[in-house]
Amino acid sequence: MAKYLSVHKKYIGNMNKRNVLNCIRENQPINRSAIAQMVGLSTPAVMAITEELLKMKIICSAGKGGSGVGKHPELLSVRGDHFRYIGVDVGRVNSRVVITGQDGEILASSKCPTKGIEEPLHYLDSLSEQIKRTIKQTDIDWETIVGVCVAMPGLIEEETGTVIFSPDFGWKDIPLQKLMQERLEPLQVMVENANRAQARWETRPERKNKESTIFCIGLGYGIGSAIISNGELYYGSSGTSGEIGHIIVNPNGAVCLCGNNGCLEAVASGRAIAEQARQIVKFGHDTILCRLCGGDIESITAKMVFEAAALQDEVAIKLIDQAAKYIGVALATAINMLDPDTIYLCGGMMKNGDDFLERIKKYTRERQMHLAGRHVVICRGSRNDLNVACGATLMIQDLGWKFEALSFLY
Ligand SMILES: [Zn+2]
Repeated sequence: MAKYLSVHKKYIGNMNKRNVLNCIRENQPINRSAIAQMVGLSTPAVMAITEELLKMKIICSAGKGGSGVGKHPELLSVRGDHFRYIGVDVGRVNSRVVITGQDGEILASSKCPTKGIEEPLHYLDSLSEQIKRTIKQTDIDWETIVGVCVAMPGLIEEETGTVIFSPDFGWKDIPLQKLMQERLEPLQVMVENANRAQARWETRPERKNKESTIFCIGLGYGIGSAIISNGELYYGSSGTSGEIGHIIVNPNGAVCLCGNNGCLEAVASGRAIAEQARQIVKFGHDTILCRLCGGDIESITAKMVFEAAALQDEVAIKLIDQAAKYIGVALATAINMLDPDTIYLCGGMMKNGDDFLERIKKYTRERQMHLAGRHVVICRGSRNDLNVACGATLMIQDLGWKFEALSFLY
């Protein structure tokens, strides 16, 4: 297949523009006659298109090329400051939106509680309104937005952006990409798994990390993970890799939202810890949690359990220790399977003190196979609340130029 595609007559003008733009981006700085040769257009046609792209401030002059005597043609580059990216982190507790520029600088962000997920269509209405409000916070033109990446927990069908199954949300077969696309016309929308967006953030270019195999686990309301192998996200044959939250660590354990018993998520997630604490308080155990929840047992959260543990509450410490033990079992399995360079522990549960991290490390070391994964480093991931949303913007940068339509060209 030719690198720069030919298309139906109806779209040919736009496609030529896109081909020229992609050619500049991939070969910049480049002169007009070289572009003409590469995309198979006449030099006057390329001159007309580049004139238009210059007027739109999408490309700019990059000086004169060549050396020696004779005419030196003008070189062209894509303007790095022109494009904007929107990342959305649909978490079970909060929905966050971030708009970034070409160099990852945050131009605007917003946070709203995630409510009404039982009615996906209504929830998506409010999410798209949140995105539009966030765009309004800035003075950016919609035409400069390359795309929107919505990251959420669960199994996502890569080609269609359909949520096949999200236990945390109780969603099955929700065509999220299509539904958001309709609400955000003419912006392009893609959907990704939130743990992959987090992993993408951990491997952002400025970190210059040399690790080739990374395991990134998200410990929050639910538990999920992402694998980076040879520097690339690993999706698996049907895109469902990384579901560490649903490996069984206790066959007789609590029922999981996925329908199975004893999944890691069912016994060690933030949701599970909070539920275990509520049961203990209901049974009348002596714990500071009774005071922390102000008598409202249903209001107990995992955050409260971590607070109680920090105050040396024995019941809370036991719950945290048990969760760390199960997570250690799962991570030991991941190490034995993948032999990663680094394991990043991310998510809301990792915002608590180092005690939880140290317990996880200890149980992992105890359970991993002797001499397996002996170089693996286990550490906390980035702590910023906008990591997943920012990782999502990087995923648009990775894929943005492959979009069927860049909105500003149509
Ligand atoms: Zn499960």
